[in-house]
Amino acid sequence: MEQSARALEKIMGGYTLRVSARARTMRLAVYPDARVVVTTPRLFGQGAIERFVAKHSSWIQRHVEKAHTRTALRVPRGSIPRLKQRALALASARCEHFSRIYGLSYNKITIRAQKTRWGSCSRNGDLSFNYKIAALSQPLAEYIIVHELCHLREMNHSQRFWDLVARTIPAYQKARTELRSVAIFFD
Ligand SMILES: [Zn+2]
Repeated sequence: MEQSARALEKIMGGYTLRVSARARTMRLAVYPDARVVVTTPRLFGQGAIERFVAKHSSWIQRHVEKAHTRTALRVPRGSIPRLKQRALALASARCEHFSRIYGLSYNKITIRAQKTRWGSCSRNGDLSFNYKIAALSQPLAEYIIVHELCHLREMNHSQRFWDLVARTIPAYQKARTELRSVAIFFD
């Protein structure tokens, strides 16, 4: 009990209040960076807001904890064109590098804005990458690039495919896990 009281106190001290004319009711959100945001249609009294937050404290706590296990990547909207350029430069340079090591050849590289996919490889050897690879750490971006390159030889996720990936990215499992925990959101 005491612990949940303390958690509640922390939430009470840490939420952001937004007033939005478009909101129809009081709303709660936990952002990927664990920020708690309360949106109200108009300025409610502090008491009403606090009662609302307190009522949903266990939901908030659960989502805050989940957010903490994620790696939040903040992307300012204005930086998207620059990220696209950087993604193309990065993918081109690393594809050239790794394809030489593997003795693989590819057609063309395209940078795409995709919601859920990091990259893809087509049967005719075209590679495409999400521009958000430019917002990732170098090891994660390289894992994605090597993953798609290896599909040029193995169009599947068989052990043979993973062995191929492991030749240049021995810690690929760690990269996969990390990548699953990445949550990108736009400012
Ligand atoms: Zn794959």
